[in-house]
Amino acid sequence: MSSPTVDPDVARLVADVPDPELPHVTLGDLGVIREILDHGDHVEVVVTPTYTACPATEMICDQIVETLAEHDVSARVTLTMTPAWSTDWITERGRERLRQAGIAPPPPGAADDFEVALALPVACPRCGSHRTRRHSDFGATACKSMYSCEACREPFERFKPI
Ligand SMILES: [Zn+2]
Repeated sequence: MSSPTVDPDVARLVADVPDPELPHVTLGDLGVIREILDHGDHVEVVVTPTYTACPATEMICDQIVETLAEHDVSARVTLTMTPAWSTDWITERGRERLRQAGIAPPPPGAADDFEVALALPVACPRCGSHRTRRHSDFGATACKSMYSCEACREPFERFKPI
């Protein structure tokens, strides 16, 4: 018999798994954990991957299974693509952690109007200035763009809104 309620400790362990590409933020911060189902002998973690093309998805699945195995919980991960993940699902804490890591967080509202969100000025994560310039659409990963700040002269990455 499966029950929709799962041990809160299990939910916390899953939420605290770090993102493989953004070690400063957790899966909980990114809002990718859709639900956790208790099937008695194992739990099923339902995940909506951030960027479907991201090779990190497989690593995320493995890390969830490994983390829970360390706590004697057997788990499997299933992926769901609908509704598609949006950067709007990143929590306030997740946005703050991105900023602290020197990555400009995506603007809110991308799910409602992507074009508007994309056109918003990008604030420098270090000094907060809006005098920033985009250099290329591809940063260290396809999920980020490279920018530089004309106020503090520092380059930074921006998490692309989707
Ligand atoms: Zn700056």
